[in-house]
Amino acid sequence: MSNYKINTNCVQAGYTPGNGEPRVVPIAQSTTYKYESAEQMAALFDLTAEGFFYTRLANPTVDAVEKKIAALEGGVLAMLTSSGQSASMMSVLNICSAGEHCICSSALYGGTFNLFNKTMRGMGIEFDFIEPDAKAEEIEKLFKENTRCCFVESLTNPSLQVVDIPLWAELAHKHGVPLIVDNTFPTPINLRPLEWGADIVVHSTSKYLDGHASALGGCVIDGGKFDWKASGKFPGLTTPDETYHGVVYTEQFGNAAYGIKLRTHLMRDIGSMMAPQNAFLLNIGLETLHLRMPRHCENAMAVARWLQKDERIEWVSYPALEDNKYYELASKLMPGGTCGVVSFGVKGGREAATRFLNSLKLAAIVTHVADARTCALHPASTTHRQLNDQELAECGVSPDLIRFSVGIEDVEDIIADIDQALAEATK
Ligand SMILES: *Cc1c(COP(=O)(O)O)cnc(C)c1O
Repeated sequence: MSNYKINTNCVQAGYTPGNGEPRVVPIAQSTTYKYESAEQMAALFDLTAEGFFYTRLANPTVDAVEKKIAALEGGVLAMLTSSGQSASMMSVLNICSAGEHCICSSALYGGTFNLFNKTMRGMGIEFDFIEPDAKAEEIEKLFKENTRCCFVESLTNPSLQVVDIPLWAELAHKHGVPLIVDNTFPTPINLRPLEWGADIVVHSTSKYLDGHASALGGCVIDGGKFDWKASGKFPGLTTPDETYHGVVYTEQFGNAAYGIKLRTHLMRDIGSMMAPQNAFLLNIGLETLHLRMPRHCENAMAVARWLQKDERIEWVSYPALEDNKYYELASKLMPGGTCGVVSFGVKGGREAATRFLNSLKLAAIVTHVADARTCALHPASTTHRQLNDQELAECGVSPDLIRFSVGIEDVEDIIADIDQALAEATK
């Protein structure tokens, strides 16, 4: 499949049926797999043969979708997880233990920030957070002897900042550690972080990859280029693992060492596997990803331009607009488009924004972004409602901010809905 273009891989990669086999990836609704002899199964346990033996580690449906996503991102291996949260946690845990340190962009999805700052800090891993636009010298000051990775979001949720992946990759590599990039918002259709120097990619597949808001999921993709041995900082990958009869991942699996350890060690122990049903649903979504993303971007651009001209709007933020702070970087990293999420402020502050949201008819109020149906959220009256205006400002959320996730409906209907809701809000 690797010689095909990304549009073809969206539709077909990962599964090639044999003669007389189902055309569609079948749902292997089975926890276990049968073998003829104990020796055959022993080889699987020793990691000397490939095959399925228990769905916590691998399942044929999940496997097919993992191969598709690895092809889309240009990685050597992918592993699906039960949610995006689980993918982010495992991507770091695979190479970072208690007493070690991770440098993160402060512009992160709220759930990721809490996971790192509270839960994983509680497990003894240290985190430093820094504005992703900080000067290289400032970022570099954070590297320590025990630093084991950097973690950023390529296009941040909800603040829509574009992160300079080549710069972060250069800094990470200079200090002998890999860069992990959460690529949920642009998807591999608009941005492939591995091509810009990133080493590991993670996704919440619950968003655009699924695209229909039908199944939660996450994914970790191993780019296969980071030299773990040369770095000398990752004994977990370069010295014997006693729980697998002393296997040395870099010796036995070469450039797939990170991806193999992620599954055989972490997934074995933690068990947050994606269910085969959810992998089936995700795969149906992926088959149209290359059609949906351009439409999301086209519609979002039309909405952003329309909002810019409307006098009832205080401000508009969309990285593909020429006056946006990130326009140049977005044009370099994402020349084909960014994503469908636009944020803006309604004149009249918190109250007008609430009235605007309550007046929407086509766009639904939901705690979700990035699916086929247009939806909107007013953080100040929902996810951040316990904060006053000053506290909101500290989180980079203004009281009038509307996060508007533009879907793939007819854009004229979306704009008409915004227009009538603005009329209600500013009456
Ligand atoms: C939603 C989201 C997550 C978390 O994913 P879940 O599937 O909800 O666990 C992580 N990162 C980003 C950028 C997200 O938008």
